Amino acid sequence: MVEKLKSILVVDDSQAILDLLGSILEGEGYRDILFATSAEDAFKILGLNSRDKNYLDVDIILMDIVMPGMDGIEACRCIKAQEYFKDVPIVMVTKRTEMDVLQKAFDAGAIDYIVKPANEAEFLSRVRSFLKLKHAMDERKMREEELLKVTNKLKQANENLQRLSYLDGLTGIGNRRYFDELYDKEWRQARRASVNISLLMIDIDYFKAFNDLYGHQSGDDCLRDVAQSISDSLRRPVDFVARYGGEEFAVILPQTDIMGAEVVAANIIKDISVLAITHGGSMVNNLVTVSIGAASIVPHRDEDSSRLLVRLADEALYKAKNDGRNRIVVVGR
Ligand code: GH3
Ligand code: MG
Ligand code: MG
Repeated sequence: MVEKLKSILVVDDSQAILDLLGSILEGEGYRDILFATSAEDAFKILGLNSRDKNYLDVDIILMDIVMPGMDGIEACRCIKAQEYFKDVPIVMVTKRTEMDVLQKAFDAGAIDYIVKPANEAEFLSRVRSFLKLKHAMDERKMREEELLKVTNKLKQANENLQRLSYLDGLTGIGNRRYFDELYDKEWRQARRASVNISLLMIDIDYFKAFNDLYGHQSGDDCLRDVAQSISDSLRRPVDFVARYGGEEFAVILPQTDIMGAEVVAANIIKDISVLAITHGGSMVNNLVTVSIGAASIVPHRDEDSSRLLVRLADEALYKAKNDGRNRIVVVGR
């Protein structure tokens, strides 16, 4: 089947050749045929030098070699230099078949050549196969672009999913899963370097009473504010806060000894007091307060269990609650 509705540009300084090739192509059903009598003329038709990049959508260019002014080989080079025409096949239609001339044409980016005067059947069959090739390249390019678009969308979706699966839905800070992964990493890092790692366990005081008094919605708002406040209290980029459980938060402080941990904990307590969230159900204050268990250790080289530090911080928190809440209890070695 003839590939119709294809745009063909024929460039030749001889009007007789243009007429001949034109009538052969038209006889075969090709309709969108453009003619140029010089390289400069062809550039104009292609929009090669147009300022608004209004390029011609062309499927194949049949190019004479010997022309007054710029020759076909140079013209081919100029067209191929433009990214837009990179995949448009340029076929030299020529009387000159010396190897060095043809080599120059290929070097300039020509895809092939047809010898003049053209044998009609051969000429058409060549044009047809070049158009098929162009068509296949266009399709491939389109598929590649589609694929790239889909791949990018997928990547974006994956990133979102990844982000969401590490963040707590209510407060927007890291969730327990994020904590577990990061804690494990920081623990091993501390053990490798034989440096301190500190952990704060933070629990809101009398939060059940807060919910009971102000409702679950207000409880959620309170959790969000406290989470944000703790996050703001952390100064170093490596410090990390996660929602550890319902109204419990955990803070990892890499390369921080117990004194440093206590300073951070004191800041957290102070910043939450500045929030001044009224808490009529608290037995220790009229505002929302937290209790903090702080622990710090230098992991031993032969110590495999990272649970130890969590246990110490948990025990310290338990003690802070028992000692009257709204306070920090520190343990360390
Ligand atoms: P304590 O001072 O000993 O910590 O007492 P508490 O009441 O804070 O501790 P308890 O463990 O008895 O109660 C925790 C409460 O936290 C109970 C639960 O309803 C509330 N809670 C846990 N998760 C959420 C949440 O996502 N939103 C709200 N609004 N409340 C929550
Ligand atoms: Mg509590
Ligand atoms: Mg609790």
